[in-house]
Amino acid sequence: AQASTNYFYTHTRKAITYLKKRSKFSHKGTNGHALLIAGSYGMMGAAILSARACLRSGVGKLTLHAPKHANDLVQSNIPEALFSADDNKYLSTTEWTEDQLKSYSAIGLGPGLSIDTKILSLIHSIIEHGSSIPLIIDADGINNLSTPEGRDLLDKLPENTIITPHPKEFQKLLNRSWQNDYEKLDLLREFSVKYQVIVCLKGAHTAVALPDGSIHFNSTGNPGMATGGSGDVLTGIITALLAQKYNPAHAAIFGVYLHGLAGDIAVKEKSIYSMVASDLTDNLPKAFLEIT
Ligand code: AMP
Ligand code: MG
Repeated sequence: AQASTNYFYTHTRKAITYLKKRSKFSHKGTNGHALLIAGSYGMMGAAILSARACLRSGVGKLTLHAPKHANDLVQSNIPEALFSADDNKYLSTTEWTEDQLKSYSAIGLGPGLSIDTKILSLIHSIIEHGSSIPLIIDADGINNLSTPEGRDLLDKLPENTIITPHPKEFQKLLNRSWQNDYEKLDLLREFSVKYQVIVCLKGAHTAVALPDGSIHFNSTGNPGMATGGSGDVLTGIITALLAQKYNPAHAAIFGVYLHGLAGDIAVKEKSIYSMVASDLTDNLPKAFLEIT
């Protein structure tokens, strides 16, 4: 055991202090422009779930970047989003320049991306040319970093980058597993401190590890959320908070809290058996109402 065993629990009364008040004079320009890079052929659902959740979490503008085959799908399913078509038809493989990235206030990367060396090059370009833009990496974004070539990028992740693995994704990233929860939490803390990134290890009572060595356990959520697409919704929420200039630690802790709260509201109507990921997004408005 270390001296710095600082564990925290995100109570409602703590979480609500993180909510940023909206100025009466705010406009879409003040609420940030998020870039979400998500989806590939056969996995556009993840991108759409993530994009919708982002739009329901207070972002000013959202651009969804995806393979060009998805243009009509995205435009007709999410009229609020701008579509940025990748030159590649089925996978997003564009390497981004600083100039292309500079108008965005946050980047969300990963849901439904697929695993491919070209996608790793895309991720590399974002890390290199968008290093001053708050970034969250989830799902296949993380899986690409778990490949032998991908691991080389871990050292290059900008400070306070947020990653949101579920336990399997985290084990793949670490290239090892754990025997018990104590070991799991030690590995979590170690990783976060070593790379100076924020890690949301998802599950019941998602553990948010900060680069200062603290771990924050979430208080909301329920087993109805253990269903495909739930995590993609979380990525969208946190991307939106980052775009609104939440500091990354608050965006992670508060985003995880909100996501669980939306789930707790949804479950009353849908039951843990019938809940689907879209129900989380559909209940984000009530979650915001509950804490304002
Ligand atoms: P993913 O595996 O990426 O789809 O993410 C699943 C999401 O659902 C995460 O945000 C988890 O924290 C949440 N989740 C899954 N199972 C539970 C559970 N039993 N209780 C609370 N939240 C859960
Ligand atoms: Mg996931």
